[in-house]
Amino acid sequence: MRIFKEALLLLAIYAGVAAGVFGVWRLWPESKTQNKGGSHEDASLLDRAEGKVRELLRREVTADAIDEASVKEGLRKIQDRLTPALGTLAFPLEIYVVDSGTVNAVCLPGNIILVYAGLLRRLQSPEELAAILAHEIAHATHRDPMQALKRELGLAALFAMVGGRSDGVTGQLMRRLVSTGFSRQQELAADEEALRVLGAADIDPKTLGDALGRLRGDKKDDPGVLQYISTHPGFDERVQLSEKASANWPGKARPIDLDWKQFRAQFRLIR
Ligand SMILES: [Zn+2]
Repeated sequence: MRIFKEALLLLAIYAGVAAGVFGVWRLWPESKTQNKGGSHEDASLLDRAEGKVRELLRREVTADAIDEASVKEGLRKIQDRLTPALGTLAFPLEIYVVDSGTVNAVCLPGNIILVYAGLLRRLQSPEELAAILAHEIAHATHRDPMQALKRELGLAALFAMVGGRSDGVTGQLMRRLVSTGFSRQQELAADEEALRVLGAADIDPKTLGDALGRLRGDKKDDPGVLQYISTHPGFDERVQLSEKASANWPGKARPIDLDWKQFRAQFRLIR
């Protein structure tokens, strides 16, 4: 039931985004979209599209995300710790918790990050949540979601032209985009950046491996966990990378000032 609700939420988000993006796409002059030499121009078009996507996403996400002040405050504390270590981002970073038992975290276009309460409930410290967030933020830094959306929409636009209406097809394509996640190479690059950010933010890089271990723990009797694992391949390799980064880390860990038990206990709807 929860998984169904979640699928509906993602579909709603992506149907809304796709509708908006198709509008943007049609506004682009043909000569510009086909200008392969103008990478500067392409980049600016992509920026504009991402701005539009972000607007649409925010509307959908804020309607479904948990709105409690104490939840936002906890997230802000973690984000504040990471921010000085982050590179330049094209759009402000926004993190939301969705009250769903699903064990997953997603980086959407426009630097919007969703953490599902099911994942959050499994973590044992604010630093572990910071580690999962650092990985998702790295996808935003690398602009992976928008590149993926651009790739998928090329195909979707064809379907739309052929079929006249695109709703059903677009929904399927968007769902595939979410369930497939990024390439192994993109995942490893995101981990590398996350480990750098964690170290620079006075969080032991091995915390990422610890967090991943919690998510893997009881996967056999929990189909929800498989979602994170299937969209984030190479678990053992990732844990090893994290341990290696920790061994070479010259820094000293400084705890994040957040009562984790109290923070986590707010998500009571989840088992
Ligand atoms: Zn990832």
